[in-house]
Amino acid sequence: MSAPTPMMAQYLAMRKSLPADIILFYRLGDFYEMFFEDAKNAAPIMNVALTKRGGTPMCGVPYHAAQNYIARLLKANKRVAIAEQTSAPQPGKIVEREIARILSPGSIDDLTLLDDQRPNYLVALSKTGKNHGLAAIDHTTGEFIIAEFTEPALLLDELARISPSEIIIPDHQISDFSANHPHALPYDGYTFLPEHAVDFLKNHFNVHSLDGFGCAELHAASSAAGAALHYLVHQLRRPCEHLLPPRVLENDKHVLIDAASQRNLDLTESRSGKNHTLLAVLDRTATPMGGRLLRSWLLHPLRDLDTLTARQATIASLLAEPFLLSKARESLKNIRDIERTTSRLSQNSGNPRDLQSLTVSLQNIPPLKEILLPLLKDHTAVVTKLHPLPDLLETLETALVEEPPAQIKDGNIIRDGHSAELDELRSASRSGKDWIARLQADERKRTGIDSLKIKFNNVFGYFIEITKTHIEKVPDDYTRKQTMANAERYITPALKEMENKVLGAEERSKQLEYELFLQLRQAVVENLKELQETAAAIAEIDTLCALAETAQLHRHTRPTLTQGTELIIENGRHPVLEQTLTDTKFVPNDTELLPESSRLQILTGPNMAGKSTYIRQLALITLMAQIGAYVPADSATIGLTDRIFCRVGASDDISRGQSTFMVEMSETALILNHATEKSLVILDEIGRGTATFDGLSIAWAVAEHLHDETKCRTLFATHYHELTDLANTRDAVVNCNVAVREWNEEIIFLHKILPGSADKSYGIQVARLAGLPKPVLARAKSILSHLEMNSTKPTAKDKHPKPKTTKLEDSMPEANSPQMNLFDF
Ligand code: ADP
Repeated sequence: MSAPTPMMAQYLAMRKSLPADIILFYRLGDFYEMFFEDAKNAAPIMNVALTKRGGTPMCGVPYHAAQNYIARLLKANKRVAIAEQTSAPQPGKIVEREIARILSPGSIDDLTLLDDQRPNYLVALSKTGKNHGLAAIDHTTGEFIIAEFTEPALLLDELARISPSEIIIPDHQISDFSANHPHALPYDGYTFLPEHAVDFLKNHFNVHSLDGFGCAELHAASSAAGAALHYLVHQLRRPCEHLLPPRVLENDKHVLIDAASQRNLDLTESRSGKNHTLLAVLDRTATPMGGRLLRSWLLHPLRDLDTLTARQATIASLLAEPFLLSKARESLKNIRDIERTTSRLSQNSGNPRDLQSLTVSLQNIPPLKEILLPLLKDHTAVVTKLHPLPDLLETLETALVEEPPAQIKDGNIIRDGHSAELDELRSASRSGKDWIARLQADERKRTGIDSLKIKFNNVFGYFIEITKTHIEKVPDDYTRKQTMANAERYITPALKEMENKVLGAEERSKQLEYELFLQLRQAVVENLKELQETAAAIAEIDTLCALAETAQLHRHTRPTLTQGTELIIENGRHPVLEQTLTDTKFVPNDTELLPESSRLQILTGPNMAGKSTYIRQLALITLMAQIGAYVPADSATIGLTDRIFCRVGASDDISRGQSTFMVEMSETALILNHATEKSLVILDEIGRGTATFDGLSIAWAVAEHLHDETKCRTLFATHYHELTDLANTRDAVVNCNVAVREWNEEIIFLHKILPGSADKSYGIQVARLAGLPKPVLARAKSILSHLEMNSTKPTAKDKHPKPKTTKLEDSMPEANSPQMNLFDF
């Protein structure tokens, strides 16, 4: 094989310095080229032709359109290294190149590729002893979260909440993580070593110890945090000065909601559609910062009464002044994404439009503050964090043109009058252009050619164009430069001289504008801390205003929060269904779960009666209360929960493609092993993924355990009528059913929760509604009456009826009894 050309040798060396999966975009003039495996991998994703030169597979994309192609690669979970030319081309010398940065899904900085309502996290995971550490960085906002877990399941739940775009793991711990995180990228294990990671963090944040961040004891989390930062700075070559110090996510401060419960409650995603989530019905935020914060509040509800009461009090103040609230919301709409814009500018990647967006936002801070000061007079702390930064605003206002371009090197950024030097260059260029325009008129007169035109292009600069019909009249002092089909193009020494002046002035003014832009960007960086604080305050104010607005629109009320374990709700409604029901009105329902007398509610009733809706409604109301929001009920008293579990039985979960009994049971195990007296447990049809007697036995034992041992608040919707007998022997079990009315063999759902158990299951009536053929329905009816006649089964009882010998409960062995012939009756 012949030796590679110097350029190719340079390419190969660069390629070798990068991990194999990264695609190298190698700048060659106006193109980025890819070679070998990179070209083969990238060409189909980018949908460009794969070619071969001298046997080398290659493909390329134009420099100007690169962003779109990079976006496609990032979407396909690829990482892309950009190698730029760092020296000007000179004859006989190879152009120098350097990797400017590496783009990856978890560190995207092009905001057009991101959803402005969601964070974009890069996550690092690490294991130290038994502890699992997590660090999540949103490079677009500077947010830096760390957490540590003793159980892998809790780590998985947190990952479900933050849904990272990219995960890195230590290369020496691949086997610890690969099963649960098959797409995680191994990264240099050295950077995860606790002492290295901690040093790296301390240097970056310029602190003597990490104690101030609350992570001194969190070795696994600090290790992940140091490695995540190292990865961004060294591997991806990203500026990280804007990152906020790591914030510890403390498990015991939040209501834990496991991944399955999060899905089952349709918090941020739903199988029924985008609008059918709790987030969608609550989200009346006006800014992207508020949108992102509300999402984060919903995924991390709080257990701290003081913080929640403070949020409620702010909402109360906002609701007390509806006119000012609506003015504040109008004002918030004028504020752009200060958080991401500031981050971009501070990483040298922003453009004049980012400066413009920041200017608009800053212009709107003083009027917003003016509205908020009387409105939030009792909660001024957050308002004082809004910094109007008048000096920065003035600098930006006086420097920037009204509508600046997105390019940083093509001029048209800076206003006339801002810089005397720029004004001079502009005037030189303008007067030169005027001279050229006059020249056209003069030359027409001199030559007698009315169609003579002076034109400009990037290759020849200015030239005189004359159509072929007038070619004889061309004066001798014209020099021919190019022949076209119908015209000839000429230049003259005077024209070229003026061209040099114009182009020189233009070139210099563009360069000067670029320098002035850099100065403006620097001015922003100097105010980084205040801008970040302002963005955080806007996020909080916007979120609280949105919650107040939603409360006002949908008649939500302020719940009373307690440290107890009660759940009392008067006329509660399902926050999402209430909004999305179109042709019927939502029927509200009361709830009373009290620790001593009614902590476990068994809910029976036919399919479609509204059982799932009712029990989820309680979970959602509780969750809303624990983000500090008002709730859809006439009144509510809610003892703060530590965890909310929402389990849907396997048979109801088929569309998830994981309807195995095993999944159902492992999720039930999670509840039984982790629920405490303070938890809220919602069980929808548990035990149905197996044979009836098996299922009933399990459901029974689970209910007993939750009542007797865990003593948590539980809502148990079930088809097993037998379970209602539990109320006869357990003090705090109550039976409820969903009212239905029969009319002409039809069934009417009233959606009203009543005390007592359902009298029958109405399966055949529901089957009729579903359109089962008449002969099948008739046959089912006759089988049912036959079965009922021959049944020795007891009918369900209300609470504390007189004991009868035929009752199921009487034939029950004691729990834990060795001979469990349960249904031998
Ligand atoms: P189940 O769990 O008993 O099978 P669902 O809770 O799924 O029943 O409710 C079935 C349908 O009944 C819902 O999709 C909704 O349209 C309607 N529904 C349920 N509860 C109510 C209510 N409180 N008010 C009005 N409609 C309701």
